[in-house]
Amino acid sequence: MSDLQDRDKNYVAGTYSRFPVEIVKGKGSLLYDGDGSQYIDMGTGIAVNTFGACDGIWAEAVKAQLDRVQHVSNIFYSYPCVELAELLCKATGMRKVFFGNSGAEANECAIKVARKYAAERHGVDCYNIITLKNSFHGRTITTLAATGQDVFHKNFQPLTPGFAYADANDLQSVKDLASKFKTAAVMIECVQGEGGVLPLEESFVKGLYNFCVEKDILLIVDEVQTGNGRTGKLYAYMNYGIQPDLVTTAKGLGGGLPIGACIFGGKVKDVLSYGDHGSTFGGNPIAAAGAVSIIKRLDESVLDGVIKRSNYIFENLSGADGIVSVNGMGLMIGIQTEKPAKQVVTECIGRGVLCLTAKDRVRLLPALNIPFNLLEKAIEIIKQVCAR
Ligand SMILES: *Cc1c(COP(=O)(O)O)cnc(C)c1O
Repeated sequence: MSDLQDRDKNYVAGTYSRFPVEIVKGKGSLLYDGDGSQYIDMGTGIAVNTFGACDGIWAEAVKAQLDRVQHVSNIFYSYPCVELAELLCKATGMRKVFFGNSGAEANECAIKVARKYAAERHGVDCYNIITLKNSFHGRTITTLAATGQDVFHKNFQPLTPGFAYADANDLQSVKDLASKFKTAAVMIECVQGEGGVLPLEESFVKGLYNFCVEKDILLIVDEVQTGNGRTGKLYAYMNYGIQPDLVTTAKGLGGGLPIGACIFGGKVKDVLSYGDHGSTFGGNPIAAAGAVSIIKRLDESVLDGVIKRSNYIFENLSGADGIVSVNGMGLMIGIQTEKPAKQVVTECIGRGVLCLTAKDRVRLLPALNIPFNLLEKAIEIIKQVCAR
């Protein structure tokens, strides 16, 4: 074991099962380890490095802010945070934004908003939130409760009460729960990322939206992984023709720096008032300046590029030797392989391609602008690894 890996084992909490790769630098879709070995990055730090490593435009925006001021407390006004909120609202038709630092925090905020809204409108006993089985919403005690997978709950009971789990793509199962528990909100991922990169069916999402509108149940869409251009639209819900009440996002928003956002629709825009919520680092100027540069770039031509790359991956992997199926949306792709996914990822590392897993699938989350020659090379290697 290398010295670094040895020290990691000794001093860093053992919460991650790491692959033996020590990345020291990168540029775009290429990453390098300490020995100078080069890897094509098909994971972008789990959908975080939206335009790849050390992207020039993003880095300039971040460095410019770094030379102005690194942090301003939320008791004062700050330009990057306001500019980002305005950009997000104008691009989504939504009305206000609360900034935190992670996906879990964005979801915590949405849950607080839903509870307060429902308590004021429908009574304090209307607090339940329906999420879907196989979902993932974060690691805090409350977002774990929102996560509809038992494996994550083990050893951490009791979790926050007030969550119930419906079957994905089964509207009746949502309706049954909503008639059993007084329901404040339903929270979904349009594509279940950690759950295996499984897109929800359009008829289910549309039906759910109509049901929520009719019952004044808030619809929360967790876009932590699907957001910020990943699926070929700015946000994945835009592929479904719905308008959520709350959209949460993080991962790709900052292009590599920690930032989370909870975006409020018209119904809930003023639910939170002074003292209801806060975060010391939330809306940090450097993270926000990076995010402004990311959101400004997600125009039609970048999004078209996402679709083109996505089509290339689907066309080349579907039906290939050793590949059972390919699922997902845009540049969020899950591959069911005959070999165990972990073995595929390990063999790909040996051949200079970094992929991820999601449950029993190989997961690809490349940069939205990954150069075609690198994409072709990576897909060829993935195909060869899966076939042998
Ligand atoms: C990653 C993820 C989260 C949690 O985000 P953190 O930044 O790790 O807290 C929540 N929801 C979804 C859908 C995610 O993919």
